Amino acid sequence: MKINKYNNIFLDRDGIINDVIFRDGEVSSPRSIDEFKFRDDFLHFAEKINKKNNVFLITNQPDIKRNLLKLDDLKVMHEKLMDILDFNEMFVCMHDDDDNCQCRKPKPGMILEAISKYNLKHKECIMIGDSSKDIKAANAASIDAFLLDTNYNKDVNFSYKIKSLVSLI
Ligand SMILES: [Mg+2]
Repeated sequence: MKINKYNNIFLDRDGIINDVIFRDGEVSSPRSIDEFKFRDDFLHFAEKINKKNNVFLITNQPDIKRNLLKLDDLKVMHEKLMDILDFNEMFVCMHDDDDNCQCRKPKPGMILEAISKYNLKHKECIMIGDSSKDIKAANAASIDAFLLDTNYNKDVNFSYKIKSLVSLI
């Protein structure tokens, strides 16, 4: 298993755990519970990694700041997610670009916070995402990354692409 090398798995949410939502041709994220649908390969992946690895959610959710998603709905989504996979902690950035926070990817703030808080070794950490922001955040935090190859991120130039989360288990 490729993933065995990494004790600590950092997962992006939209496009990795659940399906992205297309709005006017743009990649977007769920804004209601109904739109929050788990991906099949994530469910399979979650079954396999459940007990052995530390798992952290590392997600930007700017729709909270933009008043496009209710905090209560986000909480329900993440409760559903915890039922599937027992995350050690969920790191959620609810800011937008103009907040200039340190957590919003491509900044590495959430990853670095997890590494520091849980005293993790960088070389035992892997970030899995579907966006150049995930890769940049991983690079800035000096950890490895995999990019899930999708039909909407073909323009991202990165060596470590995977076709499915299942290929890691
Ligand atoms: Mg994503």
